[in-house]
Amino acid sequence: MRLPENVRMLMARLRQAGYTAYAVGGCVRDTLMNRVPKDWDLCTSALPADMQRVFAGERVLETGLKHGTLTVILGHEPYEITTYRVDGAYTDHRHPDAVSFVDRVDGDLSRRDFTINAMACGEDGAVLDFFGGREDLKAGIIRCVGDPEKRFGEDALRIMRALRFASRYDFAIEPETDRAIRSLYPTLDRVAGERIRVELLGMLTGPGVGRMLRAYPEVLTFLIPCLKEEVGYDQKNPHHLFTLWEHTVRAVEEVPPDEVLRMTMLMHDCGKPAARITDEKGIGHYPGHQAISARLTAPILEKYRFDRASSDRILRLVEAHDIPLSPDRKTMLRRLNRFGEEDLRALFDVHRADRIATGTRSPAHARERTQELNDALDALLREHPCFSRKDLAVNGHDLMALGFSGADIGRELDRLLEAVMDGQTENTREALLAESAKRRADS
Ligand code: ATP
Ligand code: MG
Repeated sequence: MRLPENVRMLMARLRQAGYTAYAVGGCVRDTLMNRVPKDWDLCTSALPADMQRVFAGERVLETGLKHGTLTVILGHEPYEITTYRVDGAYTDHRHPDAVSFVDRVDGDLSRRDFTINAMACGEDGAVLDFFGGREDLKAGIIRCVGDPEKRFGEDALRIMRALRFASRYDFAIEPETDRAIRSLYPTLDRVAGERIRVELLGMLTGPGVGRMLRAYPEVLTFLIPCLKEEVGYDQKNPHHLFTLWEHTVRAVEEVPPDEVLRMTMLMHDCGKPAARITDEKGIGHYPGHQAISARLTAPILEKYRFDRASSDRILRLVEAHDIPLSPDRKTMLRRLNRFGEEDLRALFDVHRADRIATGTRSPAHARERTQELNDALDALLREHPCFSRKDLAVNGHDLMALGFSGADIGRELDRLLEAVMDGQTENTREALLAESAKRRADS
């Protein structure tokens, strides 16, 4: 396979200094799949101190040096170069007790998680493949290097990585690997939240997500226990053709592959079982489930260390997932005021997915509806409408000059905003000042 110029140059420098070096892992896998790798990682027989000497003239980052990694920056691209290593024993299922450097690449490859990730490529473009990675790549198979139980026992995160890669490439999970996942997933409780989040989001945003959620509900509900009741849950509602879990899976698949949207759909109905009331006809209703879902979602986002901004968005979207939407101007302005453009457009997607996932609504109709909402929003935004306090032609100082003070200022600004959004008042200084002055005189 072909290596980029920079990568060959780095390898040549190491070779000239008497070391061996290979491109390794994701970049080899992606290149063999005709995909563009995110980055190029190298491994080498050179020890950290040797690498420092070899690349003394280059811009380098030494942050990973303790773990054997030197990052060389060429152009603006970082290249991670790591000394061949094997991991020592794992007693806690997540950290090797010791890492030792070795002088051969085969040792380094055998510590890697899956056959498709355990290939290396030399300077001459020849691929080293000791575990049948190429074949598995061709057949579309995720298979552990070595004994799956042992490998998941060393690092339980690999369980989530298996699901992530299977989803991303729409690959199958090899039977032994699958069996080990099903018996060892409870050891995921020893893995740090942020590591799980990365792989969970990778799985959720991949094209094979539906297959993974359907095949491994026990893994998902182990990580997110408030989803447990969804599995096999009969919604007892004529608008819903599927169990709650199947509805959720379909809703996840229906939204664009965006981390916030996918996580929103995964969580959107988790409050339903707690909210259910059954009417005299035996039909299930779920009043207030949106807020319950949001309440149950918050600690999950915390546990897996979602960043504040994403977390706020997910909670807002879960709570508002079926708020009424309409292309009419008044409703649209109010929604813009409450959600802002980005989240409002996200809500259009959430609505569509939620409807299609019932199994009782026409997908074509739902898509037309999303289009109609987006078009209406486009048209509205072209007018630069007023939908927030800061868009008003007056501000708090103007109101103070009229004699408003304290909390009354905010209340008055909101009243003006409502009047403007409803088309009762024009958003001009004169009109707004006149209206406020009148209200002030009346009070
Ligand atoms: P991506 O394209 O998503 O970055 P990647 O294969 O490069 O995929 P990384 O998480 O960047 O994945 O890891 C780089 C390489 O390190 C992997 O290809 C694999 O060989 C090895 N690796 C990463 N994490 C583990 C792990 N937990 N156990 C064993 N090997 C791992
Ligand atoms: Mg990578």
